[in-house]
Amino acid sequence: MKYSGLLFDLDGTLFDSDRIYSEALKSVGVDPEGSDYKDSRAQVKMRLGEGHVCARNRLLYFKRMLERKAGTCSPRALLDLMDRYEKSLAALIGQNWHDLGRPRLLDELAARYPLVVLTNENTRTQMIKLRMIDPDARWFGKVLTSEEWGVEKPAPKLFQAALQAIGHRAADCLMIGDDLESDITPALKAGLGAVWTTEFKPTDALPPSGARKVSRLDELRGILLA
Ligand SMILES: [Mg+2]
Repeated sequence: MKYSGLLFDLDGTLFDSDRIYSEALKSVGVDPEGSDYKDSRAQVKMRLGEGHVCARNRLLYFKRMLERKAGTCSPRALLDLMDRYEKSLAALIGQNWHDLGRPRLLDELAARYPLVVLTNENTRTQMIKLRMIDPDARWFGKVLTSEEWGVEKPAPKLFQAALQAIGHRAADCLMIGDDLESDITPALKAGLGAVWTTEFKPTDALPPSGARKVSRLDELRGILLA
């Protein structure tokens, strides 16, 4: 067998995060395209700077949004909004996971390979998502978040930490992700194999040299289980 371990990106790879984020926001009365939300998000990101590990945290966007609206942020209002958002996000992810038939694919992959999740986000949010898809860590034995390591992908440190967690050399591992810059290019640079998934953002673009491209994650069966 060519590979001994698999590293997965989470968002946009294992489920359709962009659509789900948008629907979850709408379900709690936040317009994802409205200036209230977009400007608040932009302010948080600008303040923290490029690649900051807190820059994706919706709690900070909501806090800024409430501050801008009322001049102050009521803890009750903020946490009520966050609770409702998290519940909606979780439900949508659970539904998407089953609609995609992922449990069967993951059963098959996990029977042959150790699986690790390597993701750019705060740990609480990722655990809320993972609780919906793998609550007892049956498939994903290890999860590494950018928040835990203080850097975001494409930082080599995160890939080295994931390899250490999985206990295999780079050449024996495969990174599976939807983002060329964060997942695929740094994986190839570190000496891993790479599979670029375009399942939720179809494109005719060719994969970078050394990587394979799949239009559905189900195609991993042909690459890894044949
Ligand atoms: Mg992704």
